[in-house]
Amino acid sequence: MRIVQVAAEFAPLAKAGGLGEVILGLSRELTQSPELEVDVIIPKYDFIDLKKIRNINMEVPDFKCFEKGVNQANAMWSGLSEDCRVHLLEARHPAGYFHRGKIYGEEDDISRFIYFSRAVLEYLRAQNRPIDILHLHDWHVSLCAPLARDLFTDLKIKAIILTVHNSEYQGRCTPADLDHIGLKGEEYLQKDKFPDNAPGFSKTLNLLKGGIVYADAVTTVSPNFAKELLTPEMGFHLESTFRKYKSKLTGILNGIDQTIWNPATDPLLAAHYDASSSISIQKGKEANREAFRSRTRFIGTRRPWVGTISRITFQKGPDLIEEGIKKTVELGGTFILLGSPPEAKLKAQFDNLKQQFADHPQVFIQYTYDESLAHLIYAALDFVLVPSIFEPCGLTQLIAMRYGSVPIVRSTGGLKDTVFDCENSLNPIQVRNGFVFSQPTREALDGVLKRAFDHFKQEPHTFLPMVQRSMKQDYSWKNPTLSYLKLYRKALSEKPSFLPIAAAGER
Ligand code: ADP
Repeated sequence: MRIVQVAAEFAPLAKAGGLGEVILGLSRELTQSPELEVDVIIPKYDFIDLKKIRNINMEVPDFKCFEKGVNQANAMWSGLSEDCRVHLLEARHPAGYFHRGKIYGEEDDISRFIYFSRAVLEYLRAQNRPIDILHLHDWHVSLCAPLARDLFTDLKIKAIILTVHNSEYQGRCTPADLDHIGLKGEEYLQKDKFPDNAPGFSKTLNLLKGGIVYADAVTTVSPNFAKELLTPEMGFHLESTFRKYKSKLTGILNGIDQTIWNPATDPLLAAHYDASSSISIQKGKEANREAFRSRTRFIGTRRPWVGTISRITFQKGPDLIEEGIKKTVELGGTFILLGSPPEAKLKAQFDNLKQQFADHPQVFIQYTYDESLAHLIYAALDFVLVPSIFEPCGLTQLIAMRYGSVPIVRSTGGLKDTVFDCENSLNPIQVRNGFVFSQPTREALDGVLKRAFDHFKQEPHTFLPMVQRSMKQDYSWKNPTLSYLKLYRKALSEKPSFLPIAAAGER
């Protein structure tokens, strides 16, 4: 089976959040199977460290992509990263689409990713090899589905899968944006295509919706979020579309790449530890706290350590993060916030917060994307706080558990599928792994933090075994990958009219 993954991110080459990790984890696990041929295609961003890619070579030196009446030049590079065959699309476009030093957040993101979507299909056409599964991820590449079925009809693509990692970002554009790359934009405003559903957006197209309508199967990243997508709160105006296509929607829980996230071998830690004994976990964690202190000159002597490692956006519960810091200080603990630079609307609030706690012995705040510091923090924490307003899956709680840090989460999306309150007697002991609160209010957060602190201080006999149990839990990509494979096979079986699967060994 030939599977082509198309996305805007692939960790560690280009990662802004969970998406990049998912593409890596799923692709690496699929690649282990000798009967599967897996290719990953992402843009060749200027910041990608090509030294991290083995056997990198220019696979296709020149192929064209039509845009605004001009055939723009591109090249495709390929090589091996983390055992996966990755293809980096170099757009030699005058606008320098992927030479911005970052993945997202540019004014012309729509043009950049629409161009990428068409260029991917141009490349697949140049390759001229049948594809069993074209697996698309999020709005950035959703347009590949309509392009494949309406314009690149000569391509032998048996089934198209779309995974929605985040329903809030949908890629709104105008019909003219599609005209630019050779589609007849106005036609897609028809009711059964992908006009935007949100009020005030008439004459607007919605790229994520295009992917949902055209894909043979749609997945999201947890079973609970698959249900939540049908509601106005989490569907973000696409709920009626998700309801219409409910029969092709499933939720498959994300895993984490346990090769990268392993406290027994992680090269970014100051001290390694494993789940074999509580004493070794505590010793390892203290050594990592000490390393964090000396690296950052932060005092942080008070325990427990609570932390959040996250993008700072509305989704992640900014007011609750702020409250978490204040309450932790009040309860006598230490708070570590490693946030990606806050989104514009939250900048003033979080700049203010940082100022308020400057040089505070119990609070460390940094707004950068720092992979290596993140690893050290996961190992140093006692608790990770994930107070999201919505959360399709969430990886930080899974990583935290692997590093022996207990999650404190709001009960939403994938957090609800993965964290089970340790004081709720309805949960069997083996699954109890954290602290859960429901309402997105300061009072609810204060209450859960108080409970967590009390439990930590007064009940080490249940707390420490819970830490050990969570570290041993299988959060790997094994089971999720089996679910994806099952879905791929089902999608293929429902496509009998297509050509037979490419013969093995054709590569
Ligand atoms: P999302 O994809 O919504 O951002 P997830 O919980 O699925 O959230 O994944 C977040 C990933 O990004 C985790 O691996 C987390 O460690 C990482 N991350 C988030 N913010 C930062 C940061 N500022 N520095 C380093 N890593 C970060």
